[in-house]
Amino acid sequence: MQRVHVVGGGLAGCEAAWQLASRGVDVVLYEMRPERQTPAHTTGLLGELVCSNSLKSEELSNASGLLKAEMRLMGSLVMQAAEAARVPGGSALAVDRTVFASFLTARIEQHPRVEVVRQEITELDPSDGQVTVVATGPLTSAQLAQSLKRLTGEEYLYFYDAAAPIVAAESLDMAKLFWGSRWGKGGDDYLNAPMTEAQYETFWRALVAAERYPLKDFEREVFFEACMPIEELAKRGRDTLAFGPLKPVGLMPPGWTDRPYAVVQLRIDNRERTLFNLVGFQTNLRWGEQDRVFRLIPGLENAEFVRYGVMHRNVYINSPSVLRDTGQMRSYPHILIAGQLSGVEGYLESAASGILTGINAWRLVNGQEPLSFPRETMLGALMSYISDQSKETLQPMHAAFGLLPPVAVRGGRRQRRQAQAERAIAALRGFLRDQGLLQQTCD
Ligand SMILES: Cc1cc2nc3c(=O)[nH]c(=O)nc-3n(C[C@H](O)[C@H](O)[C@H](O)COP(=O)(O)OP(=O)(O)OC[C@H]3O[C@@H](n4cnc5c(N)ncnc54)[C@H](O)[C@@H]3O)c2cc1C
Repeated sequence: MQRVHVVGGGLAGCEAAWQLASRGVDVVLYEMRPERQTPAHTTGLLGELVCSNSLKSEELSNASGLLKAEMRLMGSLVMQAAEAARVPGGSALAVDRTVFASFLTARIEQHPRVEVVRQEITELDPSDGQVTVVATGPLTSAQLAQSLKRLTGEEYLYFYDAAAPIVAAESLDMAKLFWGSRWGKGGDDYLNAPMTEAQYETFWRALVAAERYPLKDFEREVFFEACMPIEELAKRGRDTLAFGPLKPVGLMPPGWTDRPYAVVQLRIDNRERTLFNLVGFQTNLRWGEQDRVFRLIPGLENAEFVRYGVMHRNVYINSPSVLRDTGQMRSYPHILIAGQLSGVEGYLESAASGILTGINAWRLVNGQEPLSFPRETMLGALMSYISDQSKETLQPMHAAFGLLPPVAVRGGRRQRRQAQAERAIAALRGFLRDQGLLQQTCD
C-alpha cells in the first residue's frame, strides 16, 4: 500500500497521521521544528499549543463541547492527550501545554508506522501523485506558502491573530487577588484581579495610549473578532472592556461591599500553577508597554512576564474555491488540506479536520472514494461551511451551533442545542458504523 505524506506536525497533522497509522498505513510526517521555528512556537514538540491552554467547554450544549464528543467517537489522539494533560479550568478543558504536546509527540514518534522527519517542505509537486495531507497551520513557512499559492491559483488572505501574556505566579500580589469562577461555576479555578472604577479608568487610559508594534509586514488588516487584541477592543469605548472580557458579573471579592467595576481573570497555565495567562489579553503592544500597562492591574504591580502577548500572521486558503468538503483539493484530489490552513479556526477545529483528512487519505490509498461527513455533525457542518462554493471569500470558522441544520423542538435555546447535539452524535455514530469506521477507531 502507498505511503502517505503528512506535512506539518501540529494538531491537524498529528491527528491525520494517527488515523492513517492506526489503520495500517505507513506515514511520513514532516515537521520543520525545531530546526526552523515559526514566530509563535518555541519547542520542537509536535502539537505545541501556541496561545491559550484552554480547549474550551466540555458541555454538550456548547459547540466546542459537541465537537469534542464527536472527536472522541472518532478515536481522537488530541482528546487523549488533553485527558492526560488536564489542569483545573472550570467548565473548560484546560491543559498543561508541555504535558499535552509531550504526550502527542511520544505517541506519534513511537508508532511503528510513523516516520517523523524533521525537515521543512518548501514545494508541493502534484505531478508525483503522492497522497499528501498538508497541515502546516496558520504559520506555514513562507516558501511553502508560495508553493501553495501557485498550486491553488488563489490569492491568500492574511489577518492577525494575537496571543495573551503569561505571568509568573510568584510575582503576583496574592493579597489583592482572589480565587473563584464566575457565578461559582467550576470552583476556585481562576485568579481574579478586581478593580475599582478609578483603577479601571487609569488602566484603560494607559492601554489606549500605549505604543504598539507596527503591522506593516501584512497585506491586509483584518482582525478576527474572536481573537481581537485587547487594545483594539479598548479603543471602541471606555467601558467596552468592563462589559466584555473584564466584566465583573458573578465575581464578588471577599471583603468588598460594592461590586468591582471590572475584573481581570487569570487562568491557570500549567499543572504546577506557577504560570497564569491573562484571559482575553491577546495584544500587539510593545513588550515594554505590556510591562508598564498591565502592571497597572491590581496585584500585577510586579508581575514577571514569562511570555509577552504577540500578534502573528495567519495563513489560510480561500477554501470555497479550493477545497471539497472531504478536505481534498478540487484540482488535485490526492492532496488534502487540514487544520487552520484549510480555513477552520481553533485548536479543536484544526484537530478535527485532521481526523477527517486522515480517514479520507486512508480511503484514497485503498482505492475508495473519500467521505463527506453528515451535515448534522459539527465536523460535517464545518467542512461544508468552508467548502461552500457560493461564498466568494472565507472568514475562518470555528465550531458553532449556527452551522448546524435547525431542529424543530419546543423550548428555548438550551433545549434546541441539546437536541442538535444529540442528533449530531446519533448521526455520527450511524455514519461511522455504516462506513465500518466505528469499530476500527474504538477497538
Ligand atoms: C499566535 C496564535 C495564537 C492562537 N491561539 C489560539 C487559541 O488560543 N485557541 C485556539 O483555539 N486557536 C488558536 N490559534 C489558532 C489555531 O487553532 C492554532 O494555530 C492551531 O495550532 C492550528 O492547528 P494546525 O494543526 O492547523 O497548525 P499548527 O498547530 O500550527 O501546526 C502546523 C505545524 O506545521 C509546521 N510547519 C509549518 N510549515 C512547515 C513546512 N513548510 N514544512 C514542515 N512543517 C511545517 C509547524 O512548525 C507546525 O508544527 C492561534 C493561532 C496563532 C497563530
